[in-house]
Amino acid sequence: MASLTFYGGAGEIGGNKILLKDLDAKIYLDFGEEFGFGEEYFWEYLQPRAANGLEVYFEFGLVPKVEKLYSKAMLERTPLDYEEPDIDGVIISHAHSDHLGHLPFIDEKIPLYMGHGARRITEIYRKLYPSFYNLGEHENIVDFSSKEKFSIKHLEIEPVHVEHSIPGAYGFIIKTSGGNIVYTGDLRMHGPRADMTREFIERAKEAKPYAMLCEGTRMESESEHNFTEGEVGDKVSQIIKGANGIVFGYFSMSNIDRFMSFYNAARENGRILVVDTRLAYVLNNLKDKISVLPDVLEDENIRVYYRLAKSCTFCEKDYYVWEREFMGRKITYEDIRKNPEKYVMHLNFNKLMELVYLQPKDAHFIYSSSEHFLEGEGNEEEKKRWEAWMGHFGIEFHKAHCSGHASKEDLGEMIKEINPEILIPIHTSKPEEFLKLHKNVRIPKKGETIEL
Ligand SMILES: [Zn+2]
Ligand SMILES: [Zn+2]
Repeated sequence: MASLTFYGGAGEIGGNKILLKDLDAKIYLDFGEEFGFGEEYFWEYLQPRAANGLEVYFEFGLVPKVEKLYSKAMLERTPLDYEEPDIDGVIISHAHSDHLGHLPFIDEKIPLYMGHGARRITEIYRKLYPSFYNLGEHENIVDFSSKEKFSIKHLEIEPVHVEHSIPGAYGFIIKTSGGNIVYTGDLRMHGPRADMTREFIERAKEAKPYAMLCEGTRMESESEHNFTEGEVGDKVSQIIKGANGIVFGYFSMSNIDRFMSFYNAARENGRILVVDTRLAYVLNNLKDKISVLPDVLEDENIRVYYRLAKSCTFCEKDYYVWEREFMGRKITYEDIRKNPEKYVMHLNFNKLMELVYLQPKDAHFIYSSSEHFLEGEGNEEEKKRWEAWMGHFGIEFHKAHCSGHASKEDLGEMIKEINPEILIPIHTSKPEEFLKLHKNVRIPKKGETIEL
């Protein structure tokens, strides 16, 4: 029978790194980086150098010492000797760092299996952030699409798309020698593509799984109102409606559902959505994958913000080659200052400086990203600056957000419907909460193996 070893994602939200062994097949379900990875030792400029490989991480036990897994370069100066890998593949559920952030450590020969959308997102990020976004030079990346089964040795794997806060997210049904195992990845069912998650649940139910690895990000929260993407869109629209000046919004660049909520809210109120060149690049490179996305090169409701170049002009040659493509859609602080009430503008933390040029009056700001980003300990420093800037310019602050993860109630219903024999909670800090939802729960511990 199969076994599961939890190198990450057990008793914690994120960092999924789960080894599935069955007969002679060995695969990993995701290979992510934990949130707050290493922050108890490293801070600001006190960081391991890239040239150190895994030496420093092994020292603090931050990365598991597993043989025949890591690349030669990563193992230099570590107690582990390099050996040919014995892993048949890593299947990636989606492109969030807590699911693929540690891929740079593993041997380049190990095949990676990724959804075609997730792969595109990794390519986009690599282009936009070449100095710090690096998943390694993997020799063999295999794309998959929803419901197209693929095999790794005798294991038959069916990926099924799910809705999450990033496009290209999948759950999996894995046919092992002893029956089917379901892996949910991260999912939700309260957004515009809830139909995808429902399809996954349907397939998983038909598979009559003997085990299910189920995410439980929101098991820790008390039952509360489960805000939907539709409600977020309505709230954003209401704020825009009541605003006399410019409305700024912050949301993650990869959260395409949220982009659509802002885009639609701006349109409903006769305003133009202003995005920076990076977000424009993301949208332009996902448009062949996501049919509802407006064309940033054509759409009259979107303009692309160019900040003043170092030459103190807006001369094309002063910008990166990839961002010059949107020059035809250019808008500058000078344009916006003339009629700020015509615009809704996406604003990142690192673009706050633009407020000095924009000099907003009667402005509003909508923070539309995960709560713990603002309230989490690691971001206290950032939060202070957001507040200082908002205060300085007299900008009214709002929050409008809904989670990328299923509510406790939705998880309960999903578990009931799929009805696995064994339920294994992952990606949660409250695994014991699952005991209330199923009669046969096995709680995994980090570094330990569950024999099925
Ligand atoms: Zn996750
Ligand atoms: Zn995720």
